[in-house]
Amino acid sequence: MSNPVPGVKHLIAVASGKGGVGKSTTTTNLAMALANTGARVGILDADLYGPSQPRMLNLSGLPDTTDGKILKPMVGHGIQTMSIGFLVDDESPIIWRGPMITQALTRLVYETHWDNLDYLIVDMPPGTGDIHLTMAQKMPVSGAVIVTTPQDIALLDARKGLKMFEKVNVPVLGIIENMSTHVCGHCGHEEHIFGEGGARKMAEEAGTELLGELPLDIRIRTGSDSGQPVLVTDPDGTLAAAYQSIATRV
Ligand code: ADP
Repeated sequence: MSNPVPGVKHLIAVASGKGGVGKSTTTTNLAMALANTGARVGILDADLYGPSQPRMLNLSGLPDTTDGKILKPMVGHGIQTMSIGFLVDDESPIIWRGPMITQALTRLVYETHWDNLDYLIVDMPPGTGDIHLTMAQKMPVSGAVIVTTPQDIALLDARKGLKMFEKVNVPVLGIIENMSTHVCGHCGHEEHIFGEGGARKMAEEAGTELLGELPLDIRIRTGSDSGQPVLVTDPDGTLAAAYQSIATRV
């Protein structure tokens, strides 16, 4: 049985099999694109071992509390955000066993004062571990989005992630292929560096949708690493449009 999360209408998990495929970057940009459609959006950084959202949303410092216990989300680029990264220092590794991880995740989800959100987007850690099971079994997840790159090795792990959600009866809303193509900044030549068509095939096989393909583009990298995502720096550009198009399909 899962309890509703106060202040949240829909909980959506963004997951990947492998790390480094751009799941956190996609989460940030997708959340901002959803907010641009008029929705109220938050991000829960559930990647407790490697929280990225504080940096991606240019947030730091300790969150306030409402009554000494309930945390107030930090707000970056209009997105209500909670992350373990606000509560522990940057350099300290989290070395916790399963029960502590479950407890920390539960606290971040249920003891944050989410203010009237249509969507709480959850940036999941890579893989299929304790955090995934806790989310899927104890929290009312409306659906999951899988982010993958086109390499066989990333697709293999993404397929495992997708199957895990199917097993625990969380609907898979679709797949996003990140780093689909690279367009040369000098000559404009477009190349499928990591392979072509893998995510589309995976979506077909799994009976789900390919929600969109995002290019490997230096502006996405500099944007997320500097806390100024492309939706802020170039809201009318083609990259922002690609995220907006995915946001209308989720
Ligand atoms: P994950 O959450 O899957 O571990 P991240 O979102 O942290 O991956 O991304 C890993 C690195 O790749 C980051 O430096 C990020 O800026 C970069 N990155 C992600 N997506 C893209 C993209 N489409 N184009 C260029 N760089 C990207």
